Amino acid sequence: MVKDNITKCSSCSVDIANSNGAVEFNCPNCGKYRFVRCKDCRTNSIKYVCTECEFEGPN
Ligand SMILES: [Zn+2]
Ligand SMILES: [Zn+2]
Repeated sequence: MVKDNITKCSSCSVDIANSNGAVEFNCPNCGKYRFVRCKDCRTNSIKYVCTECEFEGPN
């Protein structure tokens, strides 16, 4: 509950506060989980997994 100020990539846990090109979005499947993707993980298509519904992306 103290993680509002620090946003970390869901895949590699890098702090995206100073990162251009990072995105945040809710799970496309269940909408409950909030993903954070840094630029590197987007570029390299690193997969992410929703902890709520186990959705895996990107497909
Ligand atoms: Zn990342
Ligand atoms: Zn989900």
